[in-house]
This record gives sequence, structure tokens and C-alpha cells, in this order.
Amino acid sequence: MAEILPVDEAMDSALALLGAGDVVAIPTETVYGLAGDATNGEAVARIFEAKGRPRFNPLIAHVCDMEMAERIGRFDPLSRRLAEAFWPGPLTLVLPLREEAGIHPLVTAGLSTIALRMPRGFGGELIARLGRPLAAPSANSSGRISATTAQAVAADLGRRIRLVVDGGATPVGLESTIVKVEDGALHLLRPGGTAAGDIEAVTGTALARGATGVQAPGMLASHYAPRALLKLNVLVVNPGEALLAFGPHRVQGWKQAVAVKNLSETGDMREAAANLFAYMHELDRSGATTIAAEPVPAQGLGEAINDRLSRAAAPRDGPA
Ligand code: AMP
Ligand code: MG
Repeated sequence: MAEILPVDEAMDSALALLGAGDVVAIPTETVYGLAGDATNGEAVARIFEAKGRPRFNPLIAHVCDMEMAERIGRFDPLSRRLAEAFWPGPLTLVLPLREEAGIHPLVTAGLSTIALRMPRGFGGELIARLGRPLAAPSANSSGRISATTAQAVAADLGRRIRLVVDGGATPVGLESTIVKVEDGALHLLRPGGTAAGDIEAVTGTALARGATGVQAPGMLASHYAPRALLKLNVLVVNPGEALLAFGPHRVQGWKQAVAVKNLSETGDMREAAANLFAYMHELDRSGATTIAAEPVPAQGLGEAINDRLSRAAAPRDGPA
């Protein structure tokens, strides 16, 4: 069972776990978050594993100051103004990602944008001490409602994580508001703990609501599709194809592949999840017109891996 430690006793344990690539449940002003080092793929994979999420949707990366935020996202003047007005606080900004920032692609689900937020209190202090951003979705198992107390987190995730930091009931109790500047206009992607009217008061313009562009990118069937055709669960590799392998045993014909990347030689799901986006891109860049993917068992994180693979293999459904 997870240990529950009050905020004023938890810092060292939390730092040790995060530094070792583990996850920790922490209080924020919105809801409790399940945090992991956003630069460490296996740590991010553990977040999905602990939540039992059936798919890899993009997570919010949490920062402790503007310097860290500017190293990760490219701020336009409007987004910067919102950060100045509302951070730290329950507002998340979606910005173009700086590739060199070291954010693991599992955090963004392979997107070229990043959702950034600066939390108040223990979370901010923890990030500053760690010196790295934390990816943190709500600390509840998939399909359950967000937890607003340490006891609720422990009851739900206690058997799957080591530490819950107890900061009492979260003051806002709602997820953050998510906004994105696009074509000079500010779009509301998700209502939440910062009122739309407060944002409009700062910007002097109305928030655009309703469908614009891609709101929940993971939902679009072919959103992460590589250029190459992706074939799933192959039993044979044909000459000229690239191979996305999994586990210790190769399918027939694998030596004919023009490029091979193995998600995990040992069949470790966490390692496979952490490698998935980078390897799909790499094989796509090999120039092969077809990527053949070996079967990945659907257990644990394998469900989310298969979900992502089948979306990438789906017939193209328009601009991605
Ligand atoms: P949660 O961390 O559970 O509060 O959920 C994060 C939310 O942020 C989800 O609704 C995501 O779809 C959204 N999100 C995260 N990153 C992005 C992004 N790059 N673009 C658009 N939405 C995002
Ligand atoms: Mg949630």
C-alpha cells in the first residue's frame, strides 16, 4: 500500500522516487495529480500503467517558473500575458513544443504541441527541487472521477503506487482550464478552474468555443499515422519493409527488413510504451513504404500500445 505523508514531511521521499523514475501522487490546487518526470519515458509509461488508461492521450507538463516554461514551449505574446496573469494557477496553455526541451514524446502523445501549467504550492516546490518538469494527469484510475483528497487517491491507486503526498482537500476541486492560441485567436479547449470570463477580462476578447482544429487529438483515428503504410500483427516480413519488433523472437523474413526497431527485446511493456512514438517516427524516416509491426500482447500497457498502433494503421481520415 502507498505511504501517505503530509506535505511538510514528504519532500525528500517524493524527490527520491521521482529521481528514480517512479511516480508520486501530489496535491495541486486543482485535483490530486499522478506525477512523473516528464523527461523520462519509463516514468511517463508508469503513469499510464498505474491509471490503467487504455490509450495514450497527451498529458499536461507542470513547471515551476517562467524560465522552465519558456525552455519547453514557444510563447506567443497572448499566451505569455495569460501566464503572467494566471500562473501559478489552474490554467493550462497549449503551445508549440521546443523539440530540444527533452520532453518525452509519450507526454505529448507524439504531438508537436505541449500543454503547460504552473501549479501552486507543494507541486511547484517539488518541480523546482527536482529541476525537471512533471507530467501529471489526475490521480485516479481510468474512468473514475478525479480525486480531491489523499485518502481518495490511496483508496483508488494505493496498491499501484508508493507514495501519496497529503496536502488536504484541494482548494479548486476542478481540473485546469485549457486554452490554446491559434491563428491569433484564443480557443477554449476545456473549461475548468479558471473562469472563462476572467480570461476574457485579461485578454479583452471573447474566447472561441466549440470545435476548432484538433481538440482531443488521440480521438482521431489516424492522427498519429506515419507516412508509411502500417501493417499490424504481421507473421511475415516482406523484402523492403521496415519492422517494428517486440520481444525476443522475430517473425519470419525479418532479415529482409530495411530497418528494425525493437520496442523491447525482453517484452517489457513499460519500455515498449516509452519507445513507441520515437521508433514509429524512426522507421517512417527509413524511407520504407510499409512498416510491419509484430504482435504486441494486449495486457497492461499493451492495450494502449495496440490502441495507438491501430489508429496509426487506420485509413486516413483527413488532416492530422
Ligand atoms: P488531464 O491531464 O487528465 O487533466 O488531461 C489533459 C488534457 O489536456 C486532455 O484533455 C488532453 O487532451 C489535453 N492536452 C494535453 N496536451 C495537449 C495538446 N498538446 N493539445 C491539445 N490538448 C492537449
Ligand atoms: Mg483525469
